[in-house]
Amino acid sequence: MLLKNEPLADKTTIKIGGSAKLFFLPSTLEEVKEVLPLLAQDYPLYYLGGGSNTIFGNFKGVVVSSHSLRGFRVIKENSEGILLEVWAGTPLKDLIPLIFEKNLCGIETLLGIPRISVGGAVAMNAGAYGKEMSQITEGVYYLDPLKGEILFEENPYFGYRSSEFPQRGFICKVLLRLKPCSSPVREIVKKLNSRRRKSQPLELPTAGSTFKNPEGNFAGKLLEEVGLKGFCTENGLCFSQKHANFLVNFWQKANLGDVLKLIDLAKEKVLKEFNLLLEEEVKIVSTDG
Ligand SMILES: Cc1cc2nc3c(=O)[nH]c(=O)nc-3n(C[C@H](O)[C@H](O)[C@H](O)COP(=O)(O)OP(=O)(O)OC[C@H]3O[C@@H](n4cnc5c(N)ncnc54)[C@H](O)[C@@H]3O)c2cc1C
Repeated sequence: MLLKNEPLADKTTIKIGGSAKLFFLPSTLEEVKEVLPLLAQDYPLYYLGGGSNTIFGNFKGVVVSSHSLRGFRVIKENSEGILLEVWAGTPLKDLIPLIFEKNLCGIETLLGIPRISVGGAVAMNAGAYGKEMSQITEGVYYLDPLKGEILFEENPYFGYRSSEFPQRGFICKVLLRLKPCSSPVREIVKKLNSRRRKSQPLELPTAGSTFKNPEGNFAGKLLEEVGLKGFCTENGLCFSQKHANFLVNFWQKANLGDVLKLIDLAKEKVLKEFNLLLEEEVKIVSTDG
């Protein structure tokens, strides 16, 4: 499905956004293979998963959503665990019934994140509480829009909250290895979710960590120390009182201008006070001047 002038705010967890000139919502691999290379010839592309790390302005390009590419199957199962093939748009939470039933570990630390998709988690090498996607990813099927082919990468490069994707192409499916848990995974998830709820503003529209943690430091701590915790724009975009590195769209009235204003302010203050240049973790997507 190809939509024109599609509003974007509701497609993200922070609920900020203008519109996309085109919004491509493929529901089969064939559709991805046929249409994406054509679109890539004429437009800039942005690949969207659950939108939990994305902040949109207006985008005069094509947003390619994995939303309708969902589902998973067990490829191999033995005493060492399970190998799963999972479509990119599958929300991580869709794996919960299987994980609980078979007591599997690997993504339990990420299950409390709203709307996170498997493709987005791999692209960002999402991680929490000492675990990250790189440890369980056994391969990625992706479309290279220039070659127009679905390719398989067994050992993708992963960095801190980064990978070779989306630069190499649109992730269609991934292979994930989940292993037996040494204690009940249901209990682990319960504990971690409650820890997350206490330290993060899950009740408000947010895009997670705004900045990456500089080596040996914490962005949230630095933002607190320069006095930005709780600081808001007039449209109600604030550095959260619960976690200064999370921007919250308090009244759902903020726009990209508010985001850029707070990002610039934070970078300026932290650079001045600590001689550290913060780097954005959130993806800002806009073709506005
Ligand atoms: C409340 C909250 C808490 C969070 N806590 C954490 C945390 O503890 N740890 C953590 O790491 N992150 C956290 N995040 C951030 C976010 O959930 C992760 O970055 C996650 O990996 C983004 O997944 P997504 O599907 O929402 O991706 P999106 O926001 O849709 O996209 C993020 C990036 O992935 C790329 N991408 C998405 N799908 C594809 C695809 N199919 N092919 C190629 N590229 C793709 C996009 O182009 C973009 O570069 C949190 C976010 C929120 C809102």
